[in-house]
Amino acid sequence: MRGLLVLSVLLGTVFGNEDFVGHQVLRIFAADEAQVQKVKELEDLQHLQLDFWKGPTWPGTPIDIRVPFHSLQAVKIFLEAQDIRYEIMIEDLQSLLDEEQEQMFAFRAQVQSTDTFNYATYHTLEEIYNFLDLLVAEHPQLVSKIQIGKTYEDRPIYVLKFSTGGNNRPAIWIDTGIHSREWVTQASGVWFAKKITQDYGQDPALTNILNNMDIFLEIVTNPDGFAFTHSKNRMWRKTRSLTSNSLCVGVDPNRNWDAGFGNAGSSSNPCSDQYRGKFPNSEVEVQSIVNFVNNHGNIKAFISIHSYSQLLLYPYGYTSEPAPDKEELDKLAKSAVTALSSLYGTKFKYGSIITTIYQASGSTVDWTYNQGIKYSFTFELRDSGRYGFLLPASQIVPTAQETWLALMTIMEYTLNHPY
Ligand SMILES: [Zn+2]
Repeated sequence: MRGLLVLSVLLGTVFGNEDFVGHQVLRIFAADEAQVQKVKELEDLQHLQLDFWKGPTWPGTPIDIRVPFHSLQAVKIFLEAQDIRYEIMIEDLQSLLDEEQEQMFAFRAQVQSTDTFNYATYHTLEEIYNFLDLLVAEHPQLVSKIQIGKTYEDRPIYVLKFSTGGNNRPAIWIDTGIHSREWVTQASGVWFAKKITQDYGQDPALTNILNNMDIFLEIVTNPDGFAFTHSKNRMWRKTRSLTSNSLCVGVDPNRNWDAGFGNAGSSSNPCSDQYRGKFPNSEVEVQSIVNFVNNHGNIKAFISIHSYSQLLLYPYGYTSEPAPDKEELDKLAKSAVTALSSLYGTKFKYGSIITTIYQASGSTVDWTYNQGIKYSFTFELRDSGRYGFLLPASQIVPTAQETWLALMTIMEYTLNHPY
């Protein structure tokens, strides 16, 4: 049986999925600005087909690059010739992917209830959508499923609404998985949904929140991309829309929002992983949220969850102009990461997007902040650079648990500081 499983995994690799045999992820340490610039030159060499997991920013901040086998020698020689220090973060990407697939297959099960659902493994889109229906069926008084749109490839886009009544109450928005390969985020989203149903009526803080506010949770924010990470390419980040006059597919949905759109910190090249799209909200996955937020009109906190790097960020990303509420956001971020760290000691840095990671234009929370949603935050969950996007499934539940403490901090603060 086990042999058969392994065989089917291998066949899947050969016939279905793009394989990453011999790909390595290098962690590069640029010592000064000149070395940062040198690494940036690599970004422009398209024939190398490099995948920047963490792009170049400032001296001293590690840069993580997935390097295909055919480019390894060239990249290493380039770095050594420039005297740029690097280490091998992932020796053979495919072996990590095989482990992840084996783990998924071993725990794959058709479940009849959210109590028997396995929160400690990664799931397909179908399994997560099935989970949404189970949860709604089990808690019809608390949870409902709203379809906010359809993807480019015609999949439904769902949001869970947690509400104890009232009429358009002030609300919290949480989304996970807008970048499809950041699998620990969708998995955490599933865990958050279950956690809310467990804690309502038990945990006084969450009960108080839900007696006064609604929570909206979009778990698979980029369904086409997510399906593609399962069927074809585990490393897919963008949407799956076609761009006229280009063979390259997809737009970075976290560069597509109407906030500083087109500024530095995004790309006009459809082949780039940071391709911003032809115009703001060109992606229906983004436009659907924009419509929802505008129609709702009473969202008070908006939290968009990514991985990896262990950061909690607030606006702005497109400008170095400090946000008018910077001081308050900074204090709140500090208490949120303090709560997060209290569980397993996981260290998060915090600050504005542009000062903490890099200039990013057209990002989600810059837009929500400019719409007047003061408590707008982005998380980058685990890890800080051992497995990157391939975080082992054994870390899903601890990641979700610690993140939940930070979310509770932000939600309670939002409840207690009406505006
Ligand atoms: Zn991301």
